[in-house]
Amino acid sequence: MGQAFLPVLPTTHLTSTDKNVCATFWEMQIKCTQCGADVTVQQDETFIECPFCASALFLDKRKVVFHYLINSNFKPNEAEGNLKRWMAGNHTVKDLDLKAQIAKSDFYYFPVWYFKTKDSTGDRIHLQPAASTSVSEIKKLQIPAGALKFYDKNLHNEHEIVKPDVLYDSAQTWLQNSGTDLNTVSEAALVHIPFYQFHYNFNGQSFTALVEASSGQVYANIYPAKSEAPFRVLFAMSIAGFIVTSIICYALGFMLNSSDLIEALLTAEVFKVFAYGLVSVPLIIMAYVIAKKV
Ligand SMILES: [Zn+2]
Repeated sequence: MGQAFLPVLPTTHLTSTDKNVCATFWEMQIKCTQCGADVTVQQDETFIECPFCASALFLDKRKVVFHYLINSNFKPNEAEGNLKRWMAGNHTVKDLDLKAQIAKSDFYYFPVWYFKTKDSTGDRIHLQPAASTSVSEIKKLQIPAGALKFYDKNLHNEHEIVKPDVLYDSAQTWLQNSGTDLNTVSEAALVHIPFYQFHYNFNGQSFTALVEASSGQVYANIYPAKSEAPFRVLFAMSIAGFIVTSIICYALGFMLNSSDLIEALLTAEVFKVFAYGLVSVPLIIMAYVIAKKV
């Protein structure tokens, strides 16, 4: 029984025209370094025994690109429910959940490149879209441990799988450019993540939102946000209001105590306490009304 190390593994390069790569990616045959037989490697195996010559083989996972899929846990109506709750939330324009018209929804598995790095600070996951998307929030996805299942092309509708068009090499270059030492990569994978994509209309404009279908999390770059303009106007009005109030208070103080400067300033300060209180009442009411309406 010899010990063998397997440095060279099957192709990890992926092109959009390479249709069979998904199927063969993981039903991977490696050559036994001792007897040359084809050995099939399973998902979680690192140490393999050659069934033909009983050699102990070690699989260097840093050189393998795995191929995973995350299962969907949400039905279309449940995903839409999550979208509506998000629309009813605080960062979107008021009543978006009631006023938005959902035009259509699609379900698909979106491909991302997944890199796990290991260094003295611990494990980190880095994600990079493997196909073009306008939703850059995809990089912020949280992939729960245990959610990664081996991709099996027979289990899924081929038309629901978005074909990757970003090569593995490009993803590696991106990782390197973002300041990661490629030697710290302990695992690399192509992961298909389930999404519902909703197109909706609001005030004559159309928007897109994604609901990640394993966690139900909503992702959107652009959406009808709460307008900040009324709050800015209110802020400017507040500053102007307090300045004008201060000037009036000083003017009154000097009018009432024209002979004594100290007395005049003290009188002005007393007036200011009451005047500021009076001025803030309408401002607070306006802020409340704006917050209710926007
Ligand atoms: Zn063998």
